[in-house]
Amino acid sequence: MSPATEELFSRYVVPNYGRFPVSIERGEGSQVWDDQGRRYLDFFPGWGCNLLGHCPPPVVEAVQEQVAQLIHVPNTWHFESQGQWAKLLSERSFGGQAFFCNSGAEANEAAIKLVRLHAPKKRYKIITFQGGFHGRTFGAVSATAQPKYHEGLGPMLPGFLYAPFGDLDAVRELIDEETAGILVEPIQGEGGIRLPPEGFLQGLRDLADQHELLLVFDEVQTGCGRTGEWFAYQNLGVTPDVMTLAKSLCGGIAGGALLTTSEIAPSLRPGMHAATFGGNPIAARAGIATIEMIEKQGLLQRAKDLGETFRKKLGPLANELDLVKELRVAGLMIGLELVVDGAPVVTACMEKGLLVNCTQGNVVRLLPAMTLTNKELQEGCEILIDVLRSIG
Ligand SMILES: *Cc1c(COP(=O)(O)O)cnc(C)c1O
Repeated sequence: MSPATEELFSRYVVPNYGRFPVSIERGEGSQVWDDQGRRYLDFFPGWGCNLLGHCPPPVVEAVQEQVAQLIHVPNTWHFESQGQWAKLLSERSFGGQAFFCNSGAEANEAAIKLVRLHAPKKRYKIITFQGGFHGRTFGAVSATAQPKYHEGLGPMLPGFLYAPFGDLDAVRELIDEETAGILVEPIQGEGGIRLPPEGFLQGLRDLADQHELLLVFDEVQTGCGRTGEWFAYQNLGVTPDVMTLAKSLCGGIAGGALLTTSEIAPSLRPGMHAATFGGNPIAARAGIATIEMIEKQGLLQRAKDLGETFRKKLGPLANELDLVKELRVAGLMIGLELVVDGAPVVTACMEKGLLVNCTQGNVVRLLPAMTLTNKELQEGCEILIDVLRSIG
C-alpha cells in the first residue's frame, strides 16, 4: 500500500475496521489487483456481495446506462424499473410484495417493524438465535444474539429473546402471549456457515403457525442464488412469511429488500417506514441485471456444481489434517472449521495471493463468485490446502 493512502486513513478515517495493509484498485470476476499491481484470487469477493464476481458486465452496463438517464427519484413517485424488479423477485420467491432499502441491517429493521405492526396489540417480542447475525443498527444488533456485538452499547432494544440455534424446545419455552415473531437465518453465515439441524426450520414454521407468529428468514447472506437456489428456504423446503435480502441482491451495488406476502404487506402502512434511497433507479436496474445474468448464464446450477467441487477438494482435509474439524457446504457458502485460530490462515493465504475470510475465530469462510472458473477454483484450493498443510 502506498504511504500516502495509509496516511489518509490514519488521519481521516474512523478506525472502526480491522483493515489489511493493502489498497485494492481494480477487480474483474474473481480477481482483484492492488495499488502495487499485485493480483489476488478472491474467494470472498465483496464480503459476499459480489456473487457475480467483480464488475459483472451486464450490471456495469445497466448501471452506466441508468446513471446517465436518472440517478434518483423519491419514493413519492413511480418508476417502472422498481416495479419490474419487485415482480422478478416475487416470481422467484413466494409471490408477495417488496419493500426496498439499502442494506441488510435496514431490511431487518423493516422486518422488525413489520412484525410489531402486524401483531395484535401487546405482542412485540421476537425470538432470535445465538450465533445469528442481523446487522449493526440498533434493532438489528439487538436481534443479533452475540454478546461481543453488544458490549458497551446497552441498553439494547427490548423485546428480543435468544434461543440456541437448532433448539426447538427452547423456542417453545420462550413463546408467550407477547411473542410476535421469530427471526432466523436459515443457514447461519457470520456464525460459521451453520446448517440448520434436520426438522428445525419446519418446527419453527409449525410453532409460528400454531401461535400466529410471523416467521422471518434473514436471507441477506444466503439469498439471491448463493446456495444454488434463488433462496435458501427453497433448498430447505420451508417458506417464511417475511424474507430479508441485501448483499448480492444488486450484483455488488448497494441494495436491500424485504419480501412478504400481499396479506401481510399492508401492515407496513404508509407513514410507518421509509428509506430515501430505497429501490432507487440504479439499484433497481442493477437488481434486474443481476437476476437476468444469473438466468441467462445458468448460474444457479453453476453454484451447485462449484459447491460440490469445493466439497470434493476440501472435504478430505478433515481426515487428513488434525487441525481441520469439519467442512460445511451449501452451494457457494463454504465453512472449514478448524480447531485452531483461523487468522494466520487468512494472512498466509493473502501472502500467497488468495483472499479468504475467517469468522467466529476458527471457521475459514469462503463466499466465492458463481462465475469462478474451474481453473481459479483449482488454483485457490491448492493455495488454501498448502497453507493448511504447512500449519499442520
Ligand atoms: C451481512 C449481513 C447482515 C447485515 O447486512 P448489512 O448490509 O451489512 O447491513 C444481516 N444479516 C445477515 C445474515 C448478514 O450476513
